[in-house]
Amino acid sequence: MKLDEYRKKRDFASTTEPEGSGEQRKGAGKIFVVQEHRASHLHYDLRLERDGVLVSFAVPKGIPEQPGEKHLAVRTEDHPLEYADFEGTIPEGEYGAGKVTIWDRGLYDAIEWKENTIEVVMKGERLSGRYILVRFRKAGLNDWLLFRAKD
Ligand code: MN
Repeated sequence: MKLDEYRKKRDFASTTEPEGSGEQRKGAGKIFVVQEHRASHLHYDLRLERDGVLVSFAVPKGIPEQPGEKHLAVRTEDHPLEYADFEGTIPEGEYGAGKVTIWDRGLYDAIEWKENTIEVVMKGERLSGRYILVRFRKAGLNDWLLFRAKD
């Protein structure tokens, strides 16, 4: 059910993106991935494993690497866990057409996960540190701010 929106937007006969088996991953921790996505507008997709799916945000300016930097992060549809391994080119005419590459991946710990606030510590190859996502209510429901917290 969580992946309905994801599947509805895609034609799996055409795209090589995973349809998602819905199987739960058994692993040592919670995975995160950041994918560089050269769609009509370059953006970075931050995905955090949560309850069997990847909770996803599109971050146009990329993940802030300095404490104090704040970047817009737009919540997008949940993706299947298998998407964390996806790299490839989504064909023209398909949703999100363009090249996807893995920019970083690793494990994270959730310090806090509430309706309007998510705080995580990410340990990846490039990213390492504490990050906070805060939903801002005056804008659209899916708009969040992502910032790097002081360690
Ligand atoms: Mn994307």
